[in-house]
Amino acid sequence: MSRRAVFFDRDGTLCREVGYINHPERLELIDGAVEAIEAVRERDWAAVVATNQAGVARGYFPVHVLDETMERLHALLAAGGTRLDRAYVCAHHPDLGGPGFRRRCGCRKPAPGMLEQAARDLHLDLSRSFIVGDTFKDVGAGRAAGLAGVVMLRTGYGRGELMWNSARTDHWPDFIADDLASALEWIIRREEDGP
Ligand SMILES: [Mg+2]
Ligand SMILES: [Zn+2]
Repeated sequence: MSRRAVFFDRDGTLCREVGYINHPERLELIDGAVEAIEAVRERDWAAVVATNQAGVARGYFPVHVLDETMERLHALLAAGGTRLDRAYVCAHHPDLGGPGFRRRCGCRKPAPGMLEQAARDLHLDLSRSFIVGDTFKDVGAGRAAGLAGVVMLRTGYGRGELMWNSARTDHWPDFIADDLASALEWIIRREEDGP
């Protein structure tokens, strides 16, 4: 049987939103990140990161910084005693960047490409899976992938997105959470009450 997953955005969701992370040391976990991932994994669901990282395409830092920053994320989670099942990065930008980076791709959120790739790689049932993020792009990706539930956080860009960009979005989350702990509480309750 295919597995459920919880997809997590990276910056503003699992990690502090500090702008473009142009040095790996700038990446810090948000309180509750390890616990949120553990709550997913102890149910035998997949914990998957899907992150837009256009900083290379924008010329802000070289691509090895992006790789090293993802390595630091994995190392910090391992130090906390957990791990992700997989992490997907979209390094593309539709209008900026050199070969390999300037692309109208299907993976940059709000497109669902990273979620669909994860479903193929990890044999996931997207219709029973969830996403947690801090922007309407995360919400849009969850909707486009046909997920069971979409949670938007007030951390990171979330509070401002909800205040200033609500009128411009076509997609509304199923639940708005103050933090990762309440996001996971909602997801687990929804799963237990659901069909
Ligand atoms: Mg984010
Ligand atoms: Zn992409």
